[in-house]
Amino acid sequence: MKIFFANPKAQNILLSKKLKKIFNNVISQNNYVLGNENIKFESNLKKYFNIKYALGVNSGTDALKIALKSLNLKKNSEVIIPSLTATATGSAVLESGVKPVIIDVDKTGNMDPAILKKKISTKTKAVIVVHLHGNPANIYEIKKVVKSIPIIEDCAQSMGSSINKKRVGTFGEISCLSFYPTKNLAAIGDGGAIITNNFSLFKKMKLIRQYGWDDKRVSVEQGYNSRLDEVQAAILNLKIKFLNQNNLLRNKIAKKYMKSLKNLPIVFPQTLKNTFHAYHLFVIQIKQRDKLMNYLKSKKIFPSIHYRVPLHKMPTFKKYKGSNMKQSNEMSNKMLSLPIYPELTLSQQTKVINTIKKYFKTK
Ligand SMILES: *Cc1c(COP(=O)(O)O)cnc(C)c1O
Repeated sequence: MKIFFANPKAQNILLSKKLKKIFNNVISQNNYVLGNENIKFESNLKKYFNIKYALGVNSGTDALKIALKSLNLKKNSEVIIPSLTATATGSAVLESGVKPVIIDVDKTGNMDPAILKKKISTKTKAVIVVHLHGNPANIYEIKKVVKSIPIIEDCAQSMGSSINKKRVGTFGEISCLSFYPTKNLAAIGDGGAIITNNFSLFKKMKLIRQYGWDDKRVSVEQGYNSRLDEVQAAILNLKIKFLNQNNLLRNKIAKKYMKSLKNLPIVFPQTLKNTFHAYHLFVIQIKQRDKLMNYLKSKKIFPSIHYRVPLHKMPTFKKYKGSNMKQSNEMSNKMLSLPIYPELTLSQQTKVINTIKKYFKTK
């Protein structure tokens, strides 16, 4: 049996009875987008984050675009983002018509506050902080550095991560979530959300979500169409109940990897003090990464890489490179995402561990 780095099907098969019931319920509701399930989901998010406002949207990328648009940035504005992130973070900035400034990361894989400090200028109008792989970024330092510049937290990979028991997503001005099928809270299709404590930004983002419509369906603002559909919202309402439990299972798997592989030349995820890593991905760093990856593949284990090509090396983003990229370059050459998901069985994980051990013995 093949073992993948992520396996959304495993979870959906387990829940298939409930999922079918959800589908039948939604069919009979006669209201298929931004309906009662969405309202319920927004209220679940508000409770989960202990935050005032939430908006269901169509994807994590849309969440970022709507967040950026709500800030009313002028054309020559700069938005600082880290180099190690999903392409989506960069695309959202470009699509918003402003200029990304891509900077290097620190040992956690997240935006380096010291570099950020040097790169902030009068043109900097927002900073997007990504908590990569579920590992919280150095948000306290970043907040000191940015002063009054708004922070957008990209929590697409870090739903449930926290710093000093405070959830990431509650440190910035606006936070963006993704429910892409492999994420810790996963839809069976696209989905995303925006959360904030700022009432005026919330009101604005709510307008932008749907054509700029006010209550009377009159467009009072240039907007998008980014609605969360009722099937996805209902699925998320079901799955959010298991999220914390599943994040603990992910942590258990991570701890077992670290314990079992500790004597090998492997660098484990570097976390900051008093943080909870939601382990969306379990990313090790290793020399000759592709050699190990190919060996594992030959044994039917399929790890992945997040990310092989950092943003500043992609043709679309090359010209926005804003700093030396020593750390991003090194990490992108060494990183490997081992299988981690709540449904990964002990015997599957043991197979992954033993195969890695065998690789080092035969090397
Ligand atoms: C997945 C992801 C996104 C985009 O989310 P989509 O729902 O796929 O649009 C944005 N940022 C990061 C860091 C992600 O991992």
